[in-house]
Parts: sequence; structure tokens; C-alpha cells
Amino acid sequence: MPDTDTIDRVTSRKVQVASLPPADSGRGFARLPDNLMDEFGLSEGDVIEIIGRRTTVARAIRPYGEDEGIDIIRLDGLQRANAGVGSGDFVEVRKSESKVATRVVFAPAQPNVRLQGSSDALKRTFSGRPLVEGDTVATTGHQRINADMPDNIRQMLNAPAFALQELRLVVAQTVPKGIVHIDAKTTVELLPEYDASGGERRADVTYDDLGGMRDTIDALREMVELPLRHPELFQRLGVDPPKGVLLHGPPGTGKTLLARAVANESAAKFFHIAGPEIMGSAYGESERRLREVFEQAHESAPSIIFIDEIDSIAPKRSQVTGEAEKRLVAQLLTLLDGMEPRQNTVVIAATNRPEAIDEALRRPGRFDREIVVGVPDEPGRREVLGIHTRGMPLGSDVNLDDLARRTYGFVGADLAALTREAALEAVRRIMPQLNLAEDTIPTEVLDALSVELRDFENALKR
Ligand code: ADP
Repeated sequence: MPDTDTIDRVTSRKVQVASLPPADSGRGFARLPDNLMDEFGLSEGDVIEIIGRRTTVARAIRPYGEDEGIDIIRLDGLQRANAGVGSGDFVEVRKSESKVATRVVFAPAQPNVRLQGSSDALKRTFSGRPLVEGDTVATTGHQRINADMPDNIRQMLNAPAFALQELRLVVAQTVPKGIVHIDAKTTVELLPEYDASGGERRADVTYDDLGGMRDTIDALREMVELPLRHPELFQRLGVDPPKGVLLHGPPGTGKTLLARAVANESAAKFFHIAGPEIMGSAYGESERRLREVFEQAHESAPSIIFIDEIDSIAPKRSQVTGEAEKRLVAQLLTLLDGMEPRQNTVVIAATNRPEAIDEALRRPGRFDREIVVGVPDEPGRREVLGIHTRGMPLGSDVNLDDLARRTYGFVGADLAALTREAALEAVRRIMPQLNLAEDTIPTEVLDALSVELRDFENALKR
């Protein structure tokens, strides 16, 4: 350990980004090794600015033993998105300070979510945490906000429902501007709806939202994220980055989520083509739509085009009778062949039936990389359960390891549904205490609410 007096203090410098383990994520902390803490003159809990393509803020805390002596900063997925960087990139780190905010306005980070503000809950969750406008943050722990659920569920419950799961919020406005934190005197507001005026929101999905897929993520990062972020690397080496990657695996294993996360973490635009939906009825309509998506993607590159259920638009030509299908396969091949590396676009396609798609698509220069996305094993299921119960007030009798053991054969979507169902069970339990004529649920009721083992047991029976 060097003597602190002999350390040359720096005010800012470049540090490489690594990921933060799930247990630490979502709380506004960044882990910095002791040697860097000392260099910056930081004490644990001090505010730092993290400057990538964007600037975000965090509180610095000390690392795990194994990071000691390595120049890395550990950030969670939202922090990486907020800084506009991915793991392995460099950010500039600078010691900073936050001012007390007089006013902070949050808004849902996703469209189609309506929130009803309990600003007290928000105040509690984000109190003391450094924030800047434009950052996306997640509610965690015992956050209770009234949120609209889909109508069918509302009707079923005949009550205003609320989010028992993590919500993503954007810091829409702060007064003053710059780095602020919330304290007792701050006015906190919650806009009910997503505000699209701030341009496109990122950070809706990050690698932290994917459970049991570490190897898959690594493989896809290398094939897709690396070339999108650093096209110059491939130019220098004189090799063409892959144009197309085929993901295959059963439905609900997280293929769409994975493609979205890669796009977000690569700072690429995401274009989604739902295979069955693109089959237009009018002559030439489907081809035109396909061409349009490719054009838009090239214009806004770096881009990822995700084609879901590609088997429905590109079945084996030898087995289809319809002319329309044959033309669509041919159009897709033409578009793929016409893609050039400088366009900085990657096509990711997903299918459950790789054997059913036209062989020509899998030739070199087209979908020549394949990644299997399988059904999660027990540790994988445990990770997925951890992700979907983040921000859920869990009863002390809930043991996620045990639930992972008991859910053999469940894919990610099944596990997500299980946690949602358990939350609804908890809501049903407190129904008798609710005054259905009121729009919002009293804070005392929300505070007493937790999702317990019996709720999971009931959900498993359904
Ligand atoms: P696919 O594209 O393979 O059919 P999706 O990506 O659409 O599956 O997954 C549907 C939903 O299931 C996701 O939005 C997510 O809530 C959940 N899910 C699926 N796989 C995972 C996973 N590996 N980790 C966390 N959540 C998952």
C-alpha cells in the first residue's frame, strides 16, 4: 500500500469499464479499486462523474479484493447505457460533487407504461443518490408506485393495480441543472407517461436484464458489438465483420431481449421485424417493407436489424408453393448480399426451427454465424428469478434457490410469468383492505405488501 502522501493526485483520467455483479446493480454505486480511489482523493461514497459518449454520475465505493491494483471501474448496465459505453470501453472518471435539488421530475423510461406518482416513494428510493438529467434509473427494493397494469388484469382484479416489479424511470428534469441529489426539501414529481420529446430513450434493456446467458452474451458481443463499436478494427485487419447472426432456441428463452440488449449496449439503433407480420397481402408489399427497414437501418447506422421468426419469411424455397414467399426469400438474400461493411449494420435473426429456413440464407456472407440459446439450467433459472424479482418486496420465506430447483424446464418467459403471477397473488391477498373507489392505494397498504412463499406456491399451481 503506497503512502498517501507520495501519491500523485489526479483530477481525471481514463479507466476501463467492467460490469458490476447483479447484487450491487441498480443502486447508483460504481466500484473503483483502492489505488484509484487514492489517486483521485476519493472517500467511499464520494460523487464521481463518468464520462463516455454521455456523462453520468455515481457514488464511488471500494471493490472486491480481486479488482485490487487493476484500473477498472465497475458499472451496472444502466450506468453503462447512461455513459454511452460498454464493458471494455474507456471512460473518463472525475471527482465531483452534487448539489441539493429543489426539484426533480421523473418520467417512465418506456412507452405504454402509465404511472401514478407517489413522490414519497420515489423520494425515499433516490434520496441522496447523485442524478443528472437524461439518466435512466431503476426503482429497487421497496419501491411502491401505482402503475397501470394491462386492462385485462385490472379488470380481473377490479382495482387500480401497481408495479411490484422494477420500473425504469428517466430523470426528465432537475432544478438546478447539473449533478444533483434529492433531500428532504426537494420537490419530486412523476410524469404519468413516457415523454418522447427528449428523443429516443436508450437503456430499456441491458445485459443485466438477461439471466443465465453469460456465454451467449460473450459470443454475441464478439460477433456484433465489437464490429459495431469498432469498425476500424476490422478494416485494419482486412476482414469483414459478420453481417448476419442466427439465434436458435425455443420461444421465450430471451432471444429478442438479447438482441435488444446488444443494440443498447452497442449504442446501435434497433429495428424489429416480426416475421409473420411482414407478410403483407398486397403484391410486393412485404418486399417493400423489408427494403424500407434495411434502408432506414443503413441511414441511422450503427444499427441492428432483428428478424424474429425468420422461418416464417424465409422458409425453404423448395418446400413453398406460393410465389409471394419465394419472392420474399429472394428479396432478403438480395438485401443481405447488398450490405457492405461500411454500412455498419448487423442482422440478427431468430428461429425455433433452424432446419426450416432456406439453406441459401446460411451460406457464407449471410447468416454464417449461429448461436444456440437454450433452456436455462438451475443456476440460469436462479439468475432469471433474481432479475424478475428485483425491486419486488419479497417475504423472508421466499427462497429463490429453492424456486430455481423446482422450476425445471421453465424458460425465461415462464419464470417472468411466474413472478408476475406471484405478485398478483399478493395483490389479491390485500384486496379486502382496498377501497376500490379510490384511485390510488394508501402508502400504509403498499408498505405492508410483500410477495410471499404462499404467493409463489399458488402461482406455481396455476
Ligand atoms: P424469445 O425472443 O426467445 O421468444 P423473449 O426475449 O421475447 O424470448 O422473452 C420474453 C420475455 O421473457 C422477456 O421479455 C423477459 O421478460 C423474459 N425472459 C426470457 N428469457 C429471459 C432471460 N434469459 N433472462 C431474463 N428474462 C428473460
